[in-house]
Amino acid sequence: MISSKQHLAVVLSKLKGFPSPRPSLEQYVIPSEIAATVLWEAFMLGDIKGKIVADLGAGTGILGIGAALLGAKEVHAVEVDKAAIEILQVNTDKIQHIHIHPTSVQEFSKHIDTVIQNPPFGVQKEHADKLFLEKAFSVANRVYSFHKEESASFLQAIARDHHFLITHHWSFSWPLKATMTFHEKKRYVIAVGAWRFEKRI
Ligand code: SAH
Repeated sequence: MISSKQHLAVVLSKLKGFPSPRPSLEQYVIPSEIAATVLWEAFMLGDIKGKIVADLGAGTGILGIGAALLGAKEVHAVEVDKAAIEILQVNTDKIQHIHIHPTSVQEFSKHIDTVIQNPPFGVQKEHADKLFLEKAFSVANRVYSFHKEESASFLQAIARDHHFLITHHWSFSWPLKATMTFHEKKRYVIAVGAWRFEKRI
């Protein structure tokens, strides 16, 4: 049982990361402290415990595993990249209630309660995050999603167009280790936000 946000962050920090991250898919593991902060908020808002949750673009599984550890009834981890799926399988080996969908997000169509996702930010491929948001809005009534802070006005517009309200927004300084060959500095910090969207009724 997870006893606190800090406890969750420690457990998540022990998961395996990407062996050789692929730039075209923007494979960055979310920092465990940041994942734990938003997962804990979602848990406190009643969007995790006993709920059916999806982690779209699950990567190595950190968000979905966090949701499962916080008592989600079912977690659906959707990931397209074979190397990431192998790690996902290792990381979820002893975690109950997680189902891995080795497909692209476009193909996922199960109706669920809550999406929690850290998609590609659309740096390498423009609008990569748009596809994830549209899918999330079509399958769930509650969506937690990470994006670059500079995407704020785009997020407001896309939420409005899909009849969702933004109810919460958290800001983070996100340390990126230089995992990609094109990175020139050792460490970057980028401004990243997490947004909570709720379907208008
Ligand atoms: N959610 C993880 C990984 C973030 S990186 C974390 O927070 O640590 C984004 C992930 O989305 C990568 O693993 C990448 O392979 C995956 N991805 C990119 N495009 C995808 C698509 N169309 N369908 C499914 N997964 C995709």
